[in-house]
Amino acid sequence: MSSVETLEVGVVGCGVAGQAAATLLADAGHRVTVFERFTEPRPSGAGLLLQPTGLAVLRRLGLDEQAERLGARIDGLLGLNHLKHTVLDLAYGDLHPAAYGLGIHRGALFGLLHDRLKQSKARLITDADVVDIVRDSGRATVVDKAGDRHGPFDLVVVADGAHSRLRDRLMPRARAPLYPWGCIWATVADYRDIITAPAMLQQRVRGTTTMMGLLPVGQNKVTLFWSLPVEELEAGHLIDLETWRFEALDLWPEAAALIEQVANADDFARATYRHVALPRWNDGPVLFIGDAAHGTSPQLGQGANLGLLDAHALSRALAAGDDLAAALALFARRRGPPVRFYRQASHLLTPFFQSRQPLLGLARDALLGVACRAPGLRPMMTSTLAGLRRGWLSADTLDTEGRYLLDS
Ligand SMILES: Cc1cc2nc3c(=O)[nH]c(=O)nc-3n(C[C@H](O)[C@H](O)[C@H](O)COP(=O)(O)OP(=O)(O)OC[C@H]3O[C@@H](n4cnc5c(N)ncnc54)[C@H](O)[C@@H]3O)c2cc1C
Repeated sequence: MSSVETLEVGVVGCGVAGQAAATLLADAGHRVTVFERFTEPRPSGAGLLLQPTGLAVLRRLGLDEQAERLGARIDGLLGLNHLKHTVLDLAYGDLHPAAYGLGIHRGALFGLLHDRLKQSKARLITDADVVDIVRDSGRATVVDKAGDRHGPFDLVVVADGAHSRLRDRLMPRARAPLYPWGCIWATVADYRDIITAPAMLQQRVRGTTTMMGLLPVGQNKVTLFWSLPVEELEAGHLIDLETWRFEALDLWPEAAALIEQVANADDFARATYRHVALPRWNDGPVLFIGDAAHGTSPQLGQGANLGLLDAHALSRALAAGDDLAAALALFARRRGPPVRFYRQASHLLTPFFQSRQPLLGLARDALLGVACRAPGLRPMMTSTLAGLRRGWLSADTLDTEGRYLLDS
């Protein structure tokens, strides 16, 4: 197949998905302009877990070695309940002895992607809060809050995140309900010797209303997550630090040296999530990617990885499609099945960890640990963690070096 000719591309949003897409498209020779609402683009929140899939896209961008220097190698996931019974115990090593995930601070990942974007030929326009995209004769013009119009573009890639306002405006049939639970998260100094499994993403749960996570993110830091209902995450709602500390120490006394580092309620960032479903990926020349297209709860730790894969798949589809419409159809065919699986699986799993349904907590404690050991289920659960699923019945495998092959 021939490739789509050089396009004028607008990208809305300078997050993980937007930066990766803009860089890969600019590298492929397209003329790219990125619009970001903030004057100084910045990450928000603490750390995240990159899977072998996301790491493969970083490798394609030439950023994997730097990311590995900045982040922390993660060998698996270990979840215990308050009685220290195992709820989750998965290891990347089951897939391949050399396989791993990478815990990394958002600031570090953002810095790498941002420097790489600046090295590309993409143009970045900051302080541009995009309020509309106007379509005319198959092209699209970006309109910002100041009333300035940019374009027209052959393609506008909307990567403005889970709470996308452009999605509400341009895809009225999209659904994006807010999850009833979110979390607070902070990064603290790492005391590895007090954590029993230092190279794991660890969770501790009590029922479905109390959950804490610890993710090593490199540079001697650990990100701490704590689950809260959305009412307690509203901007005006004060976090009661004393109550939090009491509950956290009660749940996970061994983590006291980490918990006690949070001195101020303001040390916590707040996060809410949406369960996003679009009727289709694009409307003519306007394409949604990343959380704007398929945000979900972070229970499976896939969102950033899916956004990176979207970016890579888009650049590949444009290189393979005869024209833009064919390329976008190819993109949708390739990304549809894995994204659908991860949305469904995250949605299914979330109430077992964050809800007001105690019976689900009991079922989780009774069954999930057993499922992790069951020969028929463990491989599926591990490939889900590693980002390899294409659907409920199929998954990609890793190559002979334990890496994810992007073009498989
Ligand atoms: C608590 C928590 C833990 C998580 N853990 C993990 C994990 O372990 N692994 C993982 O892979 N994922 C994780 N995720 C998910 C991950 O953070 C997201 O999937 C990822 O950040 C989405 O990237 P994005 O580029 O689509 O959107 P975002 O990162 O939200 O970026 C959107 C960008 O668009 C800009 N923008 C928004 N509106 C406009 C506008 N109108 N005009 C111009 N610019 C605009 C924003 O300022 C921002 O820069 C987690 C999420 C949460 C909340």
